[in-house]
Amino acid sequence: MIGWFAPQVFMGPAQRRLTRQGVPVFAYHKIAQPRTGTRDPFLYVDPARFDAQLAALRSRGLTSGTLADLPAIQAGLRSTAIITFDDGFRNVLEYGLEILARHRFRAIEFLVSGFLGHRNEWDVEKGDVAETLMDEGQVRTWLAAGHEIGSHSVTHRNLKSLDRTEAREEILASKKSLEDRFGTEVRHFCYPFGGWNEAVRDLVGEAGYQTACTVAFGVNDGATPRFELRRIIPLSSVELARKVWHRLARRKNQKE
Ligand SMILES: [Zn+2]
Repeated sequence: MIGWFAPQVFMGPAQRRLTRQGVPVFAYHKIAQPRTGTRDPFLYVDPARFDAQLAALRSRGLTSGTLADLPAIQAGLRSTAIITFDDGFRNVLEYGLEILARHRFRAIEFLVSGFLGHRNEWDVEKGDVAETLMDEGQVRTWLAAGHEIGSHSVTHRNLKSLDRTEAREEILASKKSLEDRFGTEVRHFCYPFGGWNEAVRDLVGEAGYQTACTVAFGVNDGATPRFELRRIIPLSSVELARKVWHRLARRKNQKE
């Protein structure tokens, strides 16, 4: 348990050692106080806490990197952190822009191309509270602030459960749609629900992406395949312990 737990503690001693062995890619979702009734409070980070986390990365000498820099970073320079956001929540724009700018971090937001300006229906249908996603104008504000966008599919379905034609459409059409609307190349993909297999991974490569992010825990060294990038969800030891307890309680409730 300790062996599993310690490296997951945000910038604890074990995680600091880990970030010297490879490039950490941090996975965020929402910047806000967790909403009452949410199924997963750990996908929220309070703005003050986000501020403190970026300050902690800086104080440890980690500078801002991008996914495009990854091959160069992996080859030598290790003191870089990459900040990613999944789903395109509007609260990231509202609370995150100023904090990212203050700590001079660039970030990438993985957008669900068919849901811009709508809500996270894929969470709502599982009983979670609804949150608003950035609309086109807000994505432009995000880009104008120097940040990047990537693709998180068209409809946020688990690509492992789709047939090849549907999965290909999710991967390819989202890229094209975002590129057409925002006039910027979309080079990075993020698997919805972290769901991928070899066939899905190969489709991402064929579509012309340079990297793809999973939800597997870890850092990325020179041997990490570029369509199987590992990420770290930034959680303190207290949050991590609560999360483990929350998951176990939810599993128990589901069984009863
Ligand atoms: Zn997602």
